[in-house]
Amino acid sequence: MEKKIIRLVVDVQVDFVTGALHNDYAIPVVPHIVEFVKEGAEKGYTMVFTKDTHKKETYASTLEGATIPPHCIEHTEGWEIVPELKPYTKDEKSIVITKETFAANWAKIFENKTIYALFSNADEIQVAGFVASICVASQLLTLRGWFPNKKIVLYSNLTADLSPEEYASALSVAKSCQIEIENY
Ligand SMILES: [Zn+2]
Repeated sequence: MEKKIIRLVVDVQVDFVTGALHNDYAIPVVPHIVEFVKEGAEKGYTMVFTKDTHKKETYASTLEGATIPPHCIEHTEGWEIVPELKPYTKDEKSIVITKETFAANWAKIFENKTIYALFSNADEIQVAGFVASICVASQLLTLRGWFPNKKIVLYSNLTADLSPEEYASALSVAKSCQIEIENY
């Protein structure tokens, strides 16, 4: 039987690549994520895209707002998924999740029984996106909590961080939590 695969694409939004939190480590990774998404869509996998989403009025009063410059303000250009990927978010099998901080509110998302069934029945969750030590790590560890026995893969060449040290530590923590680190 064919494997049921979910491809989770974390925060590949303009602000994390060329926008407000411009990241030279992320820019060269984007074309590879596009390949990953294109292939996933062609194979009929469930594609899940997260979007970091902040409100202009309240961002400054959040914990993130205390240390991280404003980014991904709802309905701004920087909030959008990068243009190369955006068409795929409209596919029938794509799910777009907005999240107000590092980790998405998976408890709330899984109140949707269809989405919960897709995740719980998946043979494998394959993860890409930005940035490794913050939002990618937050999804990985939260999903590991929800699905302790599931194969979860982080593609090391489909993620990036703000420094080589942070990138290495993110991969190390993921590996310790039995996330498989693979090359796409
Ligand atoms: Zn944010």
